[in-house]
Amino acid sequence: MKIAVCGAGAAGSYAVKRLRLNLPEAEILLFDAAPVGFYAKMRLPEYLAGTLPREKLILSSPEQMADWGADLHLGEPVTAIDPASHKLTTVAGEYAWDILVLAVGAHAFVPPIPGLSASPRVHVLRELPDADALVALCEPGKTAAVIGGGLLGLEAAWSLHKRGLSVSIIETAPRLLPLQMNEEESAVLLSNFTNAGFKVYTGAVVDRFDAASARLFLKDGTAVPASLVLVSAGIRANLELAKNAGLACNRGIVVDAALRTSAPDVYAVGDCAELNGAITGLWLASKDQGEAVADIIAGKISAMPPKTYRPKPKLPVF
Ligand SMILES: Cc1cc2nc3c(=O)[nH]c(=O)nc-3n(C[C@H](O)[C@H](O)[C@H](O)COP(=O)(O)OP(=O)(O)OC[C@H]3O[C@@H](n4cnc5c(N)ncnc54)[C@H](O)[C@@H]3O)c2cc1C
Repeated sequence: MKIAVCGAGAAGSYAVKRLRLNLPEAEILLFDAAPVGFYAKMRLPEYLAGTLPREKLILSSPEQMADWGADLHLGEPVTAIDPASHKLTTVAGEYAWDILVLAVGAHAFVPPIPGLSASPRVHVLRELPDADALVALCEPGKTAAVIGGGLLGLEAAWSLHKRGLSVSIIETAPRLLPLQMNEEESAVLLSNFTNAGFKVYTGAVVDRFDAASARLFLKDGTAVPASLVLVSAGIRANLELAKNAGLACNRGIVVDAALRTSAPDVYAVGDCAELNGAITGLWLASKDQGEAVADIIAGKISAMPPKTYRPKPKLPVF
């Protein structure tokens, strides 16, 4: 049996490791667009803050991944999949598969705000190269604006602050973390950030970014100094491969309880998959789905075991 896994993030990597254990005879191909290896995405804010060395992010280097017993294709993006012919195409060639696992993750959403998409001053924090680019730009005293005061936005803002930047946070909700905190806790968090030197704008809507003057304008006319803009406005599943192949997609690639997509022999797991109408967007959920799909393919279980995930918010210690 030939199993192709697209994506070597948490979902794809744990799937491959479990597939190898479950099916020693199977031929496993692992593709990833990036050449960097398997790394701890959720620790990117620590790397950005300068509190975690880059090498500590790497859970398995490409050399270590070679021991997983898969045919590795790192730095080789998959450009198309064809469920009818059971083939996939990459930038380097065409490969046949009997079973395909899509674990292509998600990307950071950049809202269509004038000035945001075209500027080299505007960044996101999703992949290791994003963090590398931000680290290279961090200079003490520089101004930065973080669009989005959710958990990831606050973490990233704190990281930039640790690097010595002067950071503004812009949040559309009337207070910080309205879903995670009551009004009193939210007020304490706001004063902690303000006392630490952040400028926090709540109930604020960004109107446009003017790269030439390095200023972000809010709808009420306020100009926020921003030689660097970090957008943290949520994620969107990577749907292109699935949509182009005619797979049923909603916000994610729609899967049933057995992680099967609408095409025979094609599964989807992790941040790209929509299970029970939801994309979990969590490391542990991606790992669990990766391992579950390997068990399902091997016939050890028939469906993803139901589980509730309650991640603990990682907030700065002031
Ligand atoms: C800054 C940050 C902080 C986070 N903090 C937390 C946290 O505290 N707790 C938590 O639970 N979760 C956290 N998360 C979320 C968690 O990291 C993700 O849910 C998890 O990494 C998703 O894993 P995945 O394998 O589904 O997707 P990804 O990790 O996105 O991996 C997908 C892989 O697919 C590859 N790929 C994409 N398209 C193609 C293609 N066409 N061909 C080949 N390869 C392709 C990509 O290169 C990538 O390596 C955080 C995420 C970020 C970015």
